[in-house]
Amino acid sequence: MKTGFYTNPIYLEHDTGSHPENANRLRAILKKLESEDLMGKFKVEPGRPASSAEIKMLHTEKLVSEVEAASESGAQTLHTQDCVISAQTYKAALHAVGSVLDAALEVAERRLDNAFCAVRPPGHHAEFDSAMGFCFFNNIALAAEFLSRKMGFKRVLIVDFDVHHGNGTQHFFEERADIFYVSLHQDPRTCFPGTGFAEERGRGAGTGYTLNVPVPPGMEDTEYLQTFYTEVKPRLKEYNPDFVLISAGFDGHRDDPLASLNLTESTFRELSFELKRLAEQTAGGRILSMLEGGYDLNALSSCVREHLLVLAEEK
Ligand SMILES: [Zn+2]
Repeated sequence: MKTGFYTNPIYLEHDTGSHPENANRLRAILKKLESEDLMGKFKVEPGRPASSAEIKMLHTEKLVSEVEAASESGAQTLHTQDCVISAQTYKAALHAVGSVLDAALEVAERRLDNAFCAVRPPGHHAEFDSAMGFCFFNNIALAAEFLSRKMGFKRVLIVDFDVHHGNGTQHFFEERADIFYVSLHQDPRTCFPGTGFAEERGRGAGTGYTLNVPVPPGMEDTEYLQTFYTEVKPRLKEYNPDFVLISAGFDGHRDDPLASLNLTESTFRELSFELKRLAEQTAGGRILSMLEGGYDLNALSSCVREHLLVLAEEK
């Protein structure tokens, strides 16, 4: 068995010009992996487009048609100024979801050990009925919903270590106990999207199944990992997940232009290792990770390299 690596040229055609979330991010990742001759470690998969019915597991019909219509009409943005759109955006966004669903199925049924989806547009800010924060459809939320609704998983864990709070993902699941959303991110008073306070802990049946761990700007590796070990890791073990999903954003790196944490590759390597070990202990090793943010091309590509090498390491 192997680590799946999902990517497709269609993601490069979501053309956002000089926006920080642009196709050069994926080009840098691929170049890094190819230049170090690492691609042979993975089962490289092209993925597939999602159907609109699959998107509608969580999103409104209206959002699906708005993304499609905006792509076709030559619109520059959708809903907010930061959601830049181009002719192929709808296709790329459908393909991102299709790939994560495909990868989820392959990992669920043990044809892959685990998988990483190098997709764009990213997903964790996308809400029920709106695009937001460079995101159109919520890739990870759709993967979680698929695993829970269609595959019968009872305790799906989502760990989001992107430097920004995954508002969309939290909102989909905050009233549910069968999908536990855990996010470490920069203090929302100092960072987009302004949600993800520690007091946001879920509602109704989902109370206690949202865990937000905001950290102050400037935080370095040691303190960040200490926070993970004391405030996050025990809760993850206690939840005893049967599937682990990762919103893998690498914009907490110290070189990232969009946020102010001071992390290095070693934090992302250690987090990846810890999550992999957790999945081995409770979820038969089932992990699916997908790309969210990370906007410094060098930092992004070396962090993804570390993350993938941990996923692909033999036990
Ligand atoms: Zn981010």
